[in-house]
Amino acid sequence: SSYIKDSPYTSEIMSKLHLFGLEKFRPNQSEAIHAAMSGADVFVLMPTGGGKSLCYQLPAVCQGGKTKGVTIVISPLLSLINDQVQALREKGIIADSLTSETREGDNKAVRSRIYGNDKPSLLYVSPERLQISESLKNTLAYLHQRGELARFVIDEAHCISTWGQDFRAAYQELGKLREDFPGVPIMALTATADERAKSDILHGLKLEKPAIFAQSFDRPNLFYRVITKTNAEELAKYINQSHPDQSGIIYCRSRDGCEKLANQLRTKGLKAKHFHAGLDKTEKEATQNEWKRKQGHIIVATIAFGMGIDKPDVRFVIHFDLPKSMDGYYQETGRAGRDGKPAECILHYAYRDVQPIRNMIHKDQQTTHAAKTRQDQDLNVVVRFCTNNTVCRRTQILQHFGERFDDSLCRGRCNNCAEKGSRIQTNITEEVKTVISLVQTLERGQEKVTLDQCRSIYKGSSASAIKNKQHDRLPGYAAGRHLPPELLDIVFHQCIHLGVLEEKPVQNGKWHHNYLKLGPQAATFLREDKETLVDYKPKTPKS
Ligand code: ADP
Repeated sequence: SSYIKDSPYTSEIMSKLHLFGLEKFRPNQSEAIHAAMSGADVFVLMPTGGGKSLCYQLPAVCQGGKTKGVTIVISPLLSLINDQVQALREKGIIADSLTSETREGDNKAVRSRIYGNDKPSLLYVSPERLQISESLKNTLAYLHQRGELARFVIDEAHCISTWGQDFRAAYQELGKLREDFPGVPIMALTATADERAKSDILHGLKLEKPAIFAQSFDRPNLFYRVITKTNAEELAKYINQSHPDQSGIIYCRSRDGCEKLANQLRTKGLKAKHFHAGLDKTEKEATQNEWKRKQGHIIVATIAFGMGIDKPDVRFVIHFDLPKSMDGYYQETGRAGRDGKPAECILHYAYRDVQPIRNMIHKDQQTTHAAKTRQDQDLNVVVRFCTNNTVCRRTQILQHFGERFDDSLCRGRCNNCAEKGSRIQTNITEEVKTVISLVQTLERGQEKVTLDQCRSIYKGSSASAIKNKQHDRLPGYAAGRHLPPELLDIVFHQCIHLGVLEEKPVQNGKWHHNYLKLGPQAATFLREDKETLVDYKPKTPKS
């Protein structure tokens, strides 16, 4: 990069790298740091875990460079601020924070450091504090006058964008920094790649000729696979065969689920331990340390596990339960293969896992309506990803982050690309129409059936429950008898997916049943005869 070539700052930058306990830079870190040292505005787009913090923390502790003094970091998350300040102090770096949580005594101490001789290298502030606190504004003006304001760092800069779900009103005020503090460079960082957010950031913060460092979110050494959910026994067999003596993470939704699965895997000779938020601190540390230090250990965890975990040789990450969002999925799978060697990410998908998550979203009394809608949408994206067996998984993942990816570059490193030849495409338009009519008939008769029951009717089951209710006399009875079972499932899941059918949870005594009803798209579908094509892999491949 033009910022690194013949740079006068390289030797100091390299010497400071060791202060952070690191040996070499990750992609774009060195470039962004050099650009910052030269006094440029900088925009950094890097996936979560990519190492954004170093891009501003390292320049903040350098003496050379065009800018000197205190680096002001604006960050939206209090917990993150606290963690970072603590981590910096442990490295012997003076760092302070001013947030809504800062007590008056600490406030004074911070101020006396700033106005005194041991100024902090980094001062973290929350955007709201910056917006309302006159004394903070005065402090910044004081530093600015004396030429001791090194730069403004806007972390999670996409919060300025009104398009996104993370919009924060206080971030919009940051547009004034440029006028209020002329000559002070700005560095904006985010992990949200979409073009609208990027443009909002660049314009909103009024960045001038920014040095832009954007990096692909693709993780080339990861193999992505979505499979039909198996069980503990199959899972153990797979790990013993494909990953003997290798380290891995298995994510489960519930604490009980983690304990049970870890136990089952141990009986199959695997070194598996559970990890979740319910463990006490010493247990957590012991489990984590053992897994981290040794090879061939498996951790079965809820998503509570992983924050700040940096084990390079994780060879597999398995989602045994459905993740709640693509962001979460990307972050969790991202813990595999940090050493750059091949690693596998396997998602076990079961349609029956979807509804319980949806119920949980809607049962939660703490969350607002808007938040529920968003969580619902997040879940829909995951389900679409699981059921889309055609489009390259990399393309789908990267598309979620606003990145265009050319399928041909995947070269068989996801199961959709690898299995292309063994899948067949089928038109199920007629099947969907028949199922809609079947549910319509049932609804007219005020009959409540679950998805499983409806599938049995459609398949033409001769079970007594069906005979007793005279469901074998319905017009749609046995209409799907010609379909192979795997396609039968696809038809029903596709109906839900298209919104022509819905599952509605109804409380019946202490049980929640999910009954099938017509969805909002049913009428349109029948009227417009929407062609529906699906890809599936026949159980017995065609010869
Ligand atoms: P982000 O903010 O982009 O999510 P962080 O700055 O929190 O990422 O860094 C994620 C992890 O990567 C941290 O554990 C950090 O110590 C580690 N890390 C950052 N840069 C490097 C590097 N050059 N070499 C090794 N580890 C690094």
